[in-house]
Amino acid sequence: MTRAARALPEALARLEAAQLRRRRTTVEGFADAASRARLALGGRTLVDFSINDYLGLARHPALAAAMGASARDAGAGSAASHLVTGHGTEHERLEEELAAFTRRERALVFSTGYMANLAVMSALAGRGERILLDRLSHASLIDGAQLAGARLRRYAHADAAAAGAALEEDAARTAVIGTDGVFSMDGDLAPLAALARLARRADAWLVVDDAHGLGVTGASGRGTLEECGMSGADVPVLIGTLGKAFGSFGAFVAGDADLIDYLMQKARPYIYTTALPQPVAAASRTALALIQAEDWRRARLAARIERFRRRALEAQVPLGLSRTPIQPVVLGSEAAVLAAQSALAAQGLWVAAIRPPTVPKGTARLRVSLTAAHTEAQIDELAGALGHCCERLRARVPA
Ligand SMILES: *Cc1c(COP(=O)(O)O)cnc(C)c1O
Repeated sequence: MTRAARALPEALARLEAAQLRRRRTTVEGFADAASRARLALGGRTLVDFSINDYLGLARHPALAAAMGASARDAGAGSAASHLVTGHGTEHERLEEELAAFTRRERALVFSTGYMANLAVMSALAGRGERILLDRLSHASLIDGAQLAGARLRRYAHADAAAAGAALEEDAARTAVIGTDGVFSMDGDLAPLAALARLARRADAWLVVDDAHGLGVTGASGRGTLEECGMSGADVPVLIGTLGKAFGSFGAFVAGDADLIDYLMQKARPYIYTTALPQPVAAASRTALALIQAEDWRRARLAARIERFRRRALEAQVPLGLSRTPIQPVVLGSEAAVLAAQSALAAQGLWVAAIRPPTVPKGTARLRVSLTAAHTEAQIDELAGALGHCCERLRARVPA
Protein backbone atom coordinates (compact mmCIF):
# COMPACT_ATOMS: atom_id res chain seq x y z
CA MET A 1 0.00 0.00 0.00
CA THR A 2 1.36 3.45 -0.86
CA ARG A 3 1.75 6.27 1.67
CA ALA A 4 -1.08 8.16 -0.03
CA ALA A 5 -3.40 5.15 0.24
CA ARG A 6 -2.59 4.66 3.93
CA ALA A 7 -3.59 8.29 4.60
CA LEU A 8 -7.16 7.73 3.41
CA PRO A 9 -8.62 5.86 6.40
CA GLU A 10 -7.17 8.53 8.66
CA ALA A 11 -8.73 11.34 6.60
CA LEU A 12 -12.09 9.57 6.66
CA ALA A 13 -11.86 9.10 10.42
CA ARG A 14 -11.18 12.83 10.86
CA LEU A 15 -14.29 13.68 8.81
CA GLU A 16 -16.29 11.22 10.90
CA ALA A 17 -15.06 12.76 14.17
CA ALA A 18 -15.96 16.25 12.93
CA GLN A 19 -19.44 15.03 11.89
CA LEU A 20 -18.60 15.99 8.32
CA ARG A 21 -18.56 12.54 6.74
CA ARG A 22 -21.12 12.34 3.95
CA ARG A 23 -23.29 9.31 3.33
CA ARG A 24 -25.76 8.52 0.60
CA THR A 25 -29.24 7.20 1.01
CA THR A 26 -30.71 4.87 -1.57
CA VAL A 27 -34.20 5.73 -2.72
CA GLU A 28 -36.05 2.45 -3.17
CA GLY A 29 -39.07 3.86 -4.95
CA PHE A 30 -41.95 6.30 -4.72
CA ALA A 31 -45.20 6.07 -2.81
CA ASP A 32 -47.47 7.95 -5.23
CA ALA A 33 -48.11 7.65 -8.93
CA ALA A 34 -46.48 10.46 -10.96
CA SER A 35 -45.00 12.25 -7.94
CA ARG A 36 -41.63 12.22 -6.22
CA ALA A 37 -42.92 13.92 -3.09
CA ARG A 38 -43.12 10.69 -1.04
CA LEU A 39 -40.28 8.25 -1.35
CA ALA A 40 -39.34 4.87 0.05
CA LEU A 41 -36.10 5.00 2.02
CA GLY A 42 -34.74 2.34 4.37
CA GLY A 43 -37.97 0.38 4.09
CA ARG A 44 -40.06 3.40 5.15
CA THR A 45 -42.07 6.09 3.39
CA LEU A 46 -40.92 9.69 3.86
CA VAL A 47 -42.14 13.01 2.49
CA ASP A 48 -39.19 14.46 0.58
CA PHE A 49 -38.38 18.07 1.44
CA SER A 50 -34.93 17.94 -0.15
CA ILE A 51 -35.71 17.78 -3.88
CA ASN A 52 -35.22 20.47 -6.51
CA ASP A 53 -38.21 19.25 -8.51
CA TYR A 54 -40.03 22.48 -7.67
CA LEU A 55 -42.91 22.10 -10.10
CA GLY A 56 -43.50 18.39 -9.62
CA LEU A 57 -42.41 17.44 -13.14
CA ALA A 58 -39.72 14.80 -12.52
CA ARG A 59 -42.15 11.86 -12.60
CA HIS A 60 -44.71 13.43 -14.91
CA PRO A 61 -45.96 10.73 -17.31
CA ALA A 62 -45.55 13.07 -20.30
CA LEU A 63 -41.81 13.39 -19.65
CA ALA A 64 -41.41 9.62 -19.36
CA ALA A 65 -43.47 9.14 -22.55
CA ALA A 66 -41.34 11.64 -24.47
CA MET A 67 -38.23 9.88 -23.25
CA GLY A 68 -39.55 6.48 -24.27
CA ALA A 69 -40.60 7.60 -27.73
CA SER A 70 -37.25 9.25 -28.38
CA ALA A 71 -35.33 6.24 -27.06
CA ARG A 72 -37.18 3.91 -29.42
CA ASP A 73 -36.13 6.15 -32.28
CA ALA A 74 -32.67 7.45 -31.32
CA GLY A 75 -31.56 4.87 -28.76
CA ALA A 76 -30.39 5.38 -25.20
CA GLY A 77 -27.00 6.91 -25.94
CA SER A 78 -25.71 9.59 -28.27
CA ALA A 79 -22.66 7.55 -29.28
CA ALA A 80 -20.55 10.64 -30.00
CA SER A 81 -19.85 14.18 -28.88
CA HIS A 82 -21.99 17.09 -30.12
CA LEU A 83 -19.35 18.24 -32.61
CA VAL A 84 -19.01 14.77 -34.15
CA THR A 85 -22.31 12.92 -34.70
CA GLY A 86 -23.89 13.09 -31.23
CA HIS A 87 -26.01 16.17 -31.95
CA GLY A 88 -29.56 15.30 -33.04
CA THR A 89 -32.90 16.90 -33.82
CA GLU A 90 -34.10 16.74 -30.21
CA HIS A 91 -31.05 18.76 -29.12
CA GLU A 92 -31.53 21.21 -31.95
CA ARG A 93 -35.21 21.80 -31.16
CA LEU A 94 -34.54 22.03 -27.43
CA GLU A 95 -31.93 24.71 -28.08
CA GLU A 96 -34.33 26.69 -30.29
CA GLU A 97 -37.10 26.44 -27.72
CA LEU A 98 -34.81 27.43 -24.84
CA ALA A 99 -33.54 30.43 -26.83
CA ALA A 100 -37.12 31.54 -27.45
CA PHE A 101 -38.08 30.99 -23.79
CA THR A 102 -35.13 33.03 -22.50
CA ARG A 103 -35.50 35.61 -25.32
CA ARG A 104 -31.96 35.13 -26.61
CA GLU A 105 -30.59 34.52 -30.07
CA ARG A 106 -29.28 31.09 -29.25
CA ALA A 107 -28.88 28.44 -26.57
CA LEU A 108 -26.34 25.66 -26.21
CA VAL A 109 -27.24 22.45 -24.37
CA PHE A 110 -24.72 20.90 -21.98
CA SER A 111 -24.71 17.55 -20.20
CA THR A 112 -24.77 19.15 -16.74
CA GLY A 113 -24.88 22.57 -15.11
CA TYR A 114 -21.55 21.83 -13.54
CA MET A 115 -20.01 21.48 -17.00
CA ALA A 116 -21.84 24.52 -18.38
CA ASN A 117 -20.28 26.64 -15.64
CA LEU A 118 -16.81 25.20 -16.21
CA ALA A 119 -17.28 25.94 -19.91
CA VAL A 120 -18.43 29.53 -19.54
CA MET A 121 -15.81 30.55 -17.00
CA SER A 122 -12.89 28.94 -18.79
CA ALA A 123 -13.95 30.29 -22.19
CA LEU A 124 -14.65 33.88 -21.08
CA ALA A 125 -11.74 34.53 -18.74
CA GLY A 126 -8.12 34.13 -19.73
CA ARG A 127 -5.19 33.04 -17.62
CA GLY A 128 -4.36 35.80 -15.14
CA GLU A 129 -7.57 37.77 -15.76
CA ARG A 130 -9.89 38.37 -12.87
CA ILE A 131 -13.24 36.72 -12.11
CA LEU A 132 -15.46 38.25 -9.41
CA LEU A 133 -17.90 35.87 -7.74
CA ASP A 134 -20.40 36.15 -4.93
CA ARG A 135 -19.00 34.43 -1.83
CA LEU A 136 -21.91 31.96 -1.87
CA SER A 137 -21.75 31.17 -5.59
CA HIS A 138 -22.20 27.56 -6.62
CA ALA A 139 -19.06 25.38 -6.46
CA SER A 140 -19.10 24.89 -10.24
CA LEU A 141 -18.57 28.62 -10.90
CA ILE A 142 -15.60 28.58 -8.54
CA ASP A 143 -14.18 25.45 -10.16
CA GLY A 144 -14.70 27.10 -13.55
CA ALA A 145 -12.58 30.05 -12.44
CA GLN A 146 -9.85 27.59 -11.46
CA LEU A 147 -10.07 25.81 -14.80
CA ALA A 148 -9.69 29.19 -16.50
CA GLY A 149 -6.50 29.83 -14.53
CA ALA A 150 -8.08 33.15 -13.63
CA ARG A 151 -7.52 35.17 -10.47
CA LEU A 152 -10.63 34.58 -8.37
CA ARG A 153 -11.91 37.36 -6.11
CA ARG A 154 -15.00 36.62 -4.01
CA TYR A 155 -17.12 39.44 -2.63
CA ALA A 156 -19.48 39.46 0.36
CA HIS A 157 -22.75 37.67 -0.30
CA ALA A 158 -25.34 39.61 -2.34
CA ASP A 159 -23.48 42.83 -1.49
CA ALA A 160 -23.30 45.07 -4.57
CA ALA A 161 -21.16 47.66 -2.76
CA ALA A 162 -18.62 44.97 -1.89
CA ALA A 163 -18.68 43.80 -5.50
CA GLY A 164 -18.04 47.40 -6.61
CA ALA A 165 -15.10 47.78 -4.23
CA ALA A 166 -13.65 44.44 -5.41
CA LEU A 167 -14.06 45.56 -9.01
CA GLU A 168 -12.21 48.85 -8.40
CA GLU A 169 -9.12 46.91 -7.23
CA ASP A 170 -8.42 46.09 -10.87
CA ALA A 171 -11.38 46.82 -13.13
CA ALA A 172 -9.33 46.73 -16.32
CA ARG A 173 -8.28 43.10 -15.72
CA THR A 174 -11.74 41.90 -14.63
CA ALA A 175 -13.19 39.72 -17.38
CA VAL A 176 -16.23 38.23 -15.64
CA ILE A 177 -18.62 39.04 -12.82
CA GLY A 178 -20.57 35.90 -11.92
CA THR A 179 -23.38 35.06 -9.56
CA ASP A 180 -26.19 32.63 -8.89
CA GLY A 181 -29.62 34.14 -9.67
CA VAL A 182 -31.27 32.34 -6.75
CA PHE A 183 -28.70 31.13 -4.21
CA SER A 184 -28.85 27.38 -3.88
CA MET A 185 -28.43 27.11 -0.10
CA ASP A 186 -30.10 30.37 0.99
CA GLY A 187 -32.89 30.89 -1.52
CA ASP A 188 -32.31 34.64 -1.78
CA LEU A 189 -31.79 36.60 -5.02
CA ALA A 190 -28.67 38.30 -6.37
CA PRO A 191 -28.68 42.12 -6.68
CA LEU A 192 -28.78 41.82 -10.48
CA ALA A 193 -29.51 45.44 -11.40
CA ALA A 194 -26.50 46.71 -9.44
CA LEU A 195 -24.24 43.95 -10.76
CA ALA A 196 -25.31 44.77 -14.32
CA ARG A 197 -24.32 48.42 -13.78
CA LEU A 198 -20.90 47.35 -12.46
CA ALA A 199 -20.32 44.95 -15.35
CA ARG A 200 -21.22 47.64 -17.87
CA ARG A 201 -18.92 50.14 -16.20
CA ALA A 202 -16.01 47.70 -16.23
CA ASP A 203 -16.83 46.34 -19.70
CA ALA A 204 -16.90 42.83 -18.18
CA TRP A 205 -19.17 39.85 -18.81
CA LEU A 206 -22.04 39.40 -16.39
CA VAL A 207 -22.77 35.69 -15.98
CA VAL A 208 -25.90 34.60 -14.11
CA ASP A 209 -26.40 30.96 -13.15
CA ASP A 210 -30.16 30.73 -12.69
CA ALA A 211 -30.31 27.01 -11.85
CA HIS A 212 -32.90 27.58 -9.13
CA GLY A 213 -34.77 30.47 -10.73
CA LEU A 214 -35.72 29.25 -14.19
CA GLY A 215 -39.21 27.79 -14.32
CA VAL A 216 -39.91 29.06 -10.82
CA THR A 217 -39.39 32.81 -10.39
CA GLY A 218 -40.82 35.57 -12.58
CA ALA A 219 -44.47 35.84 -13.57
CA SER A 220 -44.06 33.39 -16.47
CA GLY A 221 -41.25 31.30 -14.98
CA ARG A 222 -38.50 32.97 -17.00
CA GLY A 223 -36.44 33.20 -13.85
CA THR A 224 -34.62 35.77 -11.78
CA LEU A 225 -34.12 38.14 -14.72
CA GLU A 226 -37.85 38.31 -15.29
CA GLU A 227 -38.40 38.75 -11.54
CA CYS A 228 -35.95 41.70 -11.57
CA GLY A 229 -37.21 43.18 -14.86
CA MET A 230 -33.94 42.58 -16.73
CA SER A 231 -33.08 41.44 -20.23
CA GLY A 232 -30.31 39.93 -22.28
CA ALA A 233 -28.83 43.39 -22.70
CA ASP A 234 -28.23 43.51 -18.93
CA VAL A 235 -27.13 39.87 -18.52
CA PRO A 236 -25.40 38.66 -21.70
CA VAL A 237 -24.64 35.17 -20.34
CA LEU A 238 -27.47 33.15 -18.80
CA ILE A 239 -26.98 29.61 -17.50
CA GLY A 240 -29.91 27.35 -16.73
CA THR A 241 -30.17 23.76 -15.58
CA LEU A 242 -32.73 21.20 -16.65
CA GLY A 243 -32.43 18.91 -13.63
CA LYS A 244 -34.27 21.17 -11.20
CA ALA A 245 -37.61 22.84 -12.00
CA PHE A 246 -37.56 21.09 -15.40
CA GLY A 247 -37.55 17.69 -13.67
CA SER A 248 -35.20 16.36 -16.36
CA PHE A 249 -31.42 16.48 -16.70
CA GLY A 250 -28.83 18.66 -18.41
CA ALA A 251 -28.20 22.37 -18.69
CA PHE A 252 -27.81 25.20 -21.16
CA VAL A 253 -26.15 28.53 -21.81
CA ALA A 254 -28.23 31.23 -23.55
CA GLY A 255 -26.87 34.34 -25.20
CA ASP A 256 -26.22 35.95 -28.54
CA ALA A 257 -25.13 33.96 -31.58
CA ASP A 258 -21.45 34.91 -31.33
CA LEU A 259 -21.23 33.87 -27.69
CA ILE A 260 -22.75 30.47 -28.41
CA ASP A 261 -20.57 29.91 -31.47
CA TYR A 262 -17.48 30.88 -29.46
CA LEU A 263 -18.36 28.40 -26.68
CA MET A 264 -18.72 25.66 -29.29
CA GLN A 265 -15.21 26.45 -30.56
CA LYS A 266 -13.46 26.93 -27.25
CA ALA A 267 -15.25 25.35 -24.30
CA ARG A 268 -13.52 22.06 -23.47
CA PRO A 269 -16.35 20.82 -21.20
CA TYR A 270 -18.60 21.10 -24.28
CA ILE A 271 -16.25 19.63 -26.84
CA TYR A 272 -14.63 16.68 -25.08
CA THR A 273 -17.63 14.78 -23.80
CA THR A 274 -20.42 12.56 -25.10
CA ALA A 275 -23.58 14.43 -26.11
CA LEU A 276 -26.52 14.41 -23.73
CA PRO A 277 -28.81 11.47 -24.69
CA GLN A 278 -31.59 12.60 -27.05
CA PRO A 279 -34.36 11.03 -24.89
CA VAL A 280 -33.26 13.33 -22.08
CA ALA A 281 -33.48 16.33 -24.42
CA ALA A 282 -36.96 15.15 -25.45
CA ALA A 283 -38.05 15.05 -21.79
CA SER A 284 -36.69 18.58 -21.29
CA ARG A 285 -38.70 19.84 -24.27
CA THR A 286 -41.86 18.39 -22.79
CA ALA A 287 -41.03 19.98 -19.42
CA LEU A 288 -40.50 23.35 -21.08
CA ALA A 289 -43.89 23.08 -22.78
CA LEU A 290 -45.55 22.27 -19.42
CA ILE A 291 -43.72 25.12 -17.67
CA GLN A 292 -45.16 27.52 -20.26
CA ALA A 293 -48.64 26.01 -20.45
CA GLU A 294 -49.37 25.27 -16.80
CA ASP A 295 -49.10 28.46 -14.76
CA TRP A 296 -51.03 26.70 -11.98
CA ARG A 297 -47.86 24.85 -11.00
CA ARG A 298 -46.11 28.11 -10.15
CA ALA A 299 -49.22 29.44 -8.43
CA ARG A 300 -49.51 26.30 -6.32
CA LEU A 301 -45.82 26.42 -5.44
CA ALA A 302 -46.16 30.08 -4.37
CA ALA A 303 -49.10 29.13 -2.14
CA ARG A 304 -47.08 26.30 -0.56
CA ILE A 305 -44.13 28.63 0.11
CA GLU A 306 -46.44 31.21 1.66
CA ARG A 307 -48.11 28.56 3.83
CA PHE A 308 -44.83 27.05 4.98
CA ARG A 309 -43.44 30.44 5.98
CA ARG A 310 -46.59 31.35 7.90
CA ARG A 311 -46.80 28.04 9.76
CA ALA A 312 -43.07 27.84 10.47
CA LEU A 313 -42.90 31.40 11.82
CA GLU A 314 -45.93 30.67 14.02
CA ALA A 315 -43.98 27.68 15.36
CA GLN A 316 -40.95 29.97 16.04
CA VAL A 317 -38.74 28.36 13.43
CA PRO A 318 -35.97 30.82 12.50
CA LEU A 319 -36.43 31.47 8.77
CA GLY A 320 -34.48 33.81 6.52
CA LEU A 321 -35.96 36.23 4.03
CA SER A 322 -36.19 33.79 1.12
CA ARG A 323 -39.39 33.89 -0.92
CA THR A 324 -38.29 31.01 -3.14
CA PRO A 325 -38.86 27.27 -2.62
CA ILE A 326 -35.47 27.10 -0.87
CA GLN A 327 -36.14 27.78 2.83
CA PRO A 328 -33.04 27.23 4.96
CA VAL A 329 -33.31 26.72 8.71
CA VAL A 330 -29.84 27.60 10.00
CA LEU A 331 -29.05 25.70 13.21
CA GLY A 332 -25.29 26.39 13.28
CA SER A 333 -23.60 23.20 14.38
CA GLU A 334 -23.10 19.97 12.49
CA ALA A 335 -24.36 17.98 15.50
CA ALA A 336 -27.58 20.00 15.69
CA VAL A 337 -28.50 19.55 12.02
CA LEU A 338 -27.74 15.83 12.05
CA ALA A 339 -29.83 15.34 15.20
CA ALA A 340 -32.68 17.40 13.74
CA GLN A 341 -32.53 15.45 10.49
CA SER A 342 -32.84 12.11 12.33
CA ALA A 343 -35.68 13.40 14.49
CA LEU A 344 -37.59 14.58 11.41
CA ALA A 345 -36.89 11.32 9.56
CA ALA A 346 -38.33 9.39 12.51
CA GLN A 347 -41.54 11.35 11.87
CA GLY A 348 -41.54 10.52 8.18
CA LEU A 349 -40.08 13.84 6.94
CA TRP A 350 -36.89 13.93 4.88
CA VAL A 351 -34.93 17.21 4.94
CA ALA A 352 -31.35 17.62 3.74
CA ALA A 353 -28.77 18.45 6.42
CA ILE A 354 -26.26 20.76 4.75
CA ARG A 355 -22.84 21.12 6.36
CA PRO A 356 -19.52 22.77 5.51
CA PRO A 357 -17.87 22.97 3.06
CA THR A 358 -21.13 23.27 1.10
CA VAL A 359 -22.05 26.19 3.40
CA PRO A 360 -19.75 28.43 5.49
CA LYS A 361 -18.58 27.14 8.88
CA GLY A 362 -21.03 27.80 11.68
CA THR A 363 -24.03 27.92 9.32
CA ALA A 364 -24.94 24.22 9.09
CA ARG A 365 -28.58 24.07 8.22
CA LEU A 366 -31.63 22.12 7.27
CA ARG A 367 -32.30 23.02 3.66
CA VAL A 368 -36.03 22.75 3.27
CA SER A 369 -37.12 22.75 -0.35
CA LEU A 370 -40.75 22.90 -1.36
CA THR A 371 -42.53 21.73 -4.47
CA ALA A 372 -45.95 22.19 -6.03
CA ALA A 373 -46.39 18.45 -5.42
CA HIS A 374 -46.44 18.84 -1.60
CA THR A 375 -49.89 18.86 -0.01
CA GLU A 376 -50.96 21.49 2.51
CA ALA A 377 -51.12 18.79 5.19
CA GLN A 378 -47.50 17.77 4.48
CA ILE A 379 -46.37 21.40 4.74
CA ASP A 380 -48.18 21.85 8.06
CA GLU A 381 -46.68 18.66 9.43
CA LEU A 382 -43.16 19.79 8.52
CA ALA A 383 -43.62 23.25 10.04
CA GLY A 384 -44.91 21.72 13.28
CA ALA A 385 -42.10 19.18 13.48
CA LEU A 386 -39.46 21.87 12.81
CA GLY A 387 -41.02 23.94 15.59
CA HIS A 388 -40.52 21.04 18.04
CA CYS A 389 -36.91 20.54 16.88
CA CYS A 390 -36.10 24.21 17.42
CA GLU A 391 -37.83 24.21 20.81
CA ARG A 392 -35.71 21.27 21.96
CA LEU A 393 -32.55 23.04 20.73
CA ARG A 394 -33.47 26.24 22.57
CA ALA A 395 -34.13 24.26 25.76
CA ARG A 396 -30.65 22.77 25.55
CA VAL A 397 -28.78 25.95 24.60
CA PRO A 398 -30.15 28.99 26.48
CA ALA A 399 -30.02 32.14 24.35
C1 LIG B 1 -27.40 22.38 -9.28
C2 LIG B 1 -26.62 23.57 -9.66
C3 LIG B 1 -25.66 23.50 -10.65
C4 LIG B 1 -25.24 22.20 -11.28
O1 LIG B 1 -26.18 21.74 -12.18
P1 LIG B 1 -26.18 20.19 -12.56
O2 LIG B 1 -26.94 20.12 -13.81
O3 LIG B 1 -26.81 19.49 -11.40
O4 LIG B 1 -24.74 19.80 -12.72
C5 LIG B 1 -25.04 24.66 -11.03
N1 LIG B 1 -25.32 25.84 -10.44
C6 LIG B 1 -26.23 25.93 -9.45
C7 LIG B 1 -26.50 27.26 -8.83
C8 LIG B 1 -26.89 24.80 -9.02
O5 LIG B 1 -27.76 24.88 -8.02
